[in-house]
Amino acid sequence: MNKAIFFDRDGVLIKAIVKNRKPLSIKNIEDINFLIDDNELFFKLKSIGYKLIIVTNQPDVARNEISRKFVEKVNSIIIKKYKIDYAYACLHDDISNCSCRKPKNGLLIKAQKDFNLNLEECFLIGDRWKDITAAKSSGCKSIFIDYNYNEKKPKEYTFKVNSTLEAINIILKYDEQKS
Ligand SMILES: [Mg+2]
Ligand SMILES: [Zn+2]
Repeated sequence: MNKAIFFDRDGVLIKAIVKNRKPLSIKNIEDINFLIDDNELFFKLKSIGYKLIIVTNQPDVARNEISRKFVEKVNSIIIKKYKIDYAYACLHDDISNCSCRKPKNGLLIKAQKDFNLNLEECFLIGDRWKDITAAKSSGCKSIFIDYNYNEKKPKEYTFKVNSTLEAINIILKYDEQKS
């Protein structure tokens, strides 16, 4: 079986647009701002056996504010930069009651099957309680990046940090200690 790191997208790999301390997804390609400059860190994660997978909620598609194509374009730019293995996106809003919108764990379960993952060996990095809840119900470890958004915070996570860089360093260190 394989192991993976699940990355939420906005606020983890690229900057979210924050308004009134609430994070929003970007709506223009020009708004892509990468949060990690050093691509080598991602290659390092791959070299110690992790698949790199994006799991992202993009409800603005269901709200007709952006297109599915736009989501795919942004994802492909990120995939290329960080050599991400795959991006799973939920394009629904709450009203669809789908099984993929985080806090549900449908995207993680889909990835588990596609990549034959041992979820207990996986990490999820996210900046909102919905990410962390999806991780918990999947049995994978979670790293909460706390930007102090004006919303409910997750109560249970494996680690809490202030940046994506810190999160990646925790995983690298964790792996070192294990081997
Ligand atoms: Mg996010
Ligand atoms: Zn969905």
